[in-house]
Amino acid sequence: MQPRRPTRQITIGDSRVGFIRIGGGLPNRDGTPTTPAPVSVQTMTSGYTHEIDKCVAEIQKLSTAGAQVVRVAVPEKKDTEALRHIIPQVNVPIVADVHFHFQRALEAVESGVHKIRLNPGNINDRKQVIDVIQACKARNLPIRVGVNEGSIIERKDKQKRQKELGAVFSDHKHGYLLAIMIAKLEEYLDIFYEQDFYDIAISAKSMDCSLVIDAYTEISKRFDHPLHLGVTHAGPKETGTIRSVVALGGLLLNGIGDTIRISYANDPIFEVQDGLELLYCLGLKERVGVDLIACPTCGRIQVDLFTLIQDVRKALAEKVTVPMKVAVMGCIVNGPGEAEGADVAVFAGDRRGIIYVQGERVANVPEEEILGRLLTECLQFQDRVKRGEAKLGEKKVEITPPDPLGQLGSGWEKMAAEKIQTKPQVAKLTVSRS
Ligand code: SF4
Repeated sequence: MQPRRPTRQITIGDSRVGFIRIGGGLPNRDGTPTTPAPVSVQTMTSGYTHEIDKCVAEIQKLSTAGAQVVRVAVPEKKDTEALRHIIPQVNVPIVADVHFHFQRALEAVESGVHKIRLNPGNINDRKQVIDVIQACKARNLPIRVGVNEGSIIERKDKQKRQKELGAVFSDHKHGYLLAIMIAKLEEYLDIFYEQDFYDIAISAKSMDCSLVIDAYTEISKRFDHPLHLGVTHAGPKETGTIRSVVALGGLLLNGIGDTIRISYANDPIFEVQDGLELLYCLGLKERVGVDLIACPTCGRIQVDLFTLIQDVRKALAEKVTVPMKVAVMGCIVNGPGEAEGADVAVFAGDRRGIIYVQGERVANVPEEEILGRLLTECLQFQDRVKRGEAKLGEKKVEITPPDPLGQLGSGWEKMAAEKIQTKPQVAKLTVSRS
């Protein structure tokens, strides 16, 4: 993990919703030193902004899930007017995403928005850009300049541009696209600098992971503004998550990036959850709630482990707030090694599960009781942690695998020989494996 790249710092918010700082490490323009703010997680609503009650409910849902900044689309005047009613009802800074008309930006500023996002590919009239800059400057609002592969390319003389600009970044796979992004960005930011405006964040999105990595890497060398990382039109959740994690994870590992948005075609609450998980995995954010370890399953399982894992995940997400490690393992063969370090662990066997709390065996229960007992143990352990009677990660799980036909057993042979009367779901499982 490379150290975070120092940047100028911007601040989003107000005294009511709170302030989120993005970037840092370089002094402010008045010389005040700053330290890098933790990387924050953003997302964008999927509903219409002018449907005020629904928009407020969606913003609150996303905020509760962990979004620290929420962006809304304002394609029409009714959307910017709705912001007046939305912003006083939410508890998170709001960014107005302005598309083709600079008036929407001016209206959003009047409505009390906390930040504006402009796309140089869509709003590039110099006078209009200056009007937006001046409106934001008067209210100390930052602006994100977001170049985007989809709207940045000059299509009329593309071949000529490709030939001319390709040489600039010929060592990159997408040299000409990268060159256009950088050129447009430089051109656009010059307008801001001429207006003595520096409260800027930058994004440079594409659906191509390697272009995203190249673009942000180049931009990080050329500008000292904080970077909003994202992959655009990344596809459905299944592939969009992977695209985003590859690109954003790679950049963050290199110390590049100050705020992130994972995006794909699905409920944005998943974007928030995935963004947080990425930061947890990289050690860039302290985990809130359970770190669930689970085995991928194999031919050794003798319980319905997929269902158990999902039930445990849902139940603990609602009830556990301390970052305890919980392991749900399919068997006793590899489970103990793989669950090492878990605070609470269950090792399933022959339709049973042995539950351990910080290395101490506390129960050996039938399959139907595993979920309830595991939750009870997790909640009791959480209470002990909160009272200061136990410490997270203090003791490791140390279990010697038992006799295969012992307490957990290796009941496949017995089940196949029908020496065990199976429950309906186990019977189904047995058929599929025999
Ligand atoms: S813990 Fe056991 S059941 Fe799970 S994948 Fe490993 S060996 Fe298979």
